[in-house]
Amino acid sequence: MIDIKHLTFPELQNFVVSVGFKKYRASQIARWLYKKLATSFDEMTDISRKGREILKETAEVYNLKIVNKEVSKDGTVKYLFELKDGNRIETVFIPERDWNTICVSTQVGCPIGCKFCFTAKDGFTRNLTTSEIVDQYLSVQRDVGLENRISNIVFMGMGEPLLNFENVKKSIEIFTDDRMIGLSKRKITVSTCGIIPGIRRMAKETPRVKLALSLHATEDETREKLIPLNKKYPIKEIMKELKNYPADNIRRIMIEYLMLEGINDSTEDAIRLSKLVKDIPVKVNLIPFNPYPGSPFKTPSREKIEAFQKILWNRGIATFIRDSRGQDISAACGMLRGKNKRTLKQ
Ligand code: SAH
Repeated sequence: MIDIKHLTFPELQNFVVSVGFKKYRASQIARWLYKKLATSFDEMTDISRKGREILKETAEVYNLKIVNKEVSKDGTVKYLFELKDGNRIETVFIPERDWNTICVSTQVGCPIGCKFCFTAKDGFTRNLTTSEIVDQYLSVQRDVGLENRISNIVFMGMGEPLLNFENVKKSIEIFTDDRMIGLSKRKITVSTCGIIPGIRRMAKETPRVKLALSLHATEDETREKLIPLNKKYPIKEIMKELKNYPADNIRRIMIEYLMLEGINDSTEDAIRLSKLVKDIPVKVNLIPFNPYPGSPFKTPSREKIEAFQKILWNRGIATFIRDSRGQDISAACGMLRGKNKRTLKQ
């Protein structure tokens, strides 16, 4: 059985031809799945009953199951999805004034082990399939309704997207193909902790997609303590890679910088950060640390974060403070999953 949402458009064409349909049927099926958000072949009424039977015998439309949903006062919705094998992942819908964004997961758990991250605590289970990535978008779009159209996707949920490159790339093809979901590549951002081979592949294979780097520290000693993988891919090497990434002032690279009190929030850090990025078209996003029960870090005061921001602005670096959305729901990464697991065990 083929999971139909694994297929890019050319693959879908090959598939329909292989089961005896004319090629144009691929457009029809894609329209049902991606524009009309159909959840079964039975809904595809412009395909004959016999045709639908053939489809059902050879392929499946696999849909994620919503097992929990928390709606914040600010409109942010956090979804907990269950996969076929019982694993659970999170997706967040973030309404902005002029557009809507979703934050998708790419792995069950994560192998990187960042010290400040809640998801890291559970370790790594497996990569998500293309279909599981794509269906986070479809399921959320269906749930919030087509009047709240999702235009932006950030790969900033659970997992390290560049360690699941093939499936992330295929999902981007489905997200951006006009015959399928049809979003603009500029509105898709892939966030990485700095997997150099993955950044190189993005430069070649998904060049117009936006890149975000979770930097979080300005010298290797501190970064290594926060993100163990920094030993393999140190700051200088990553920066060299960013210089080679296709970017300009319109398509800037996003530098994410988590603010941790007493660890990376000093004036010297701000100055070092400005030097690290000075030859790269970047936009810096300062992310106030999102605490979770038992977390070993503290969030700096708003004044401290603004002072840090100001140093960067004064040195010509466009720097923004990411406002934390959904503060009244399970806001920090992985928290909804954690909470529900605890509930199940009790
Ligand atoms: N693995 C990818 C994408 C997933 S994490 C990456 O590292 O970029 C998305 C972002 O959330 C990263 O910048 C990550 O460092 C940040 N993050 C993780 N835990 C956080 C927390 N408790 N508070 C705020 N940001 C956090």
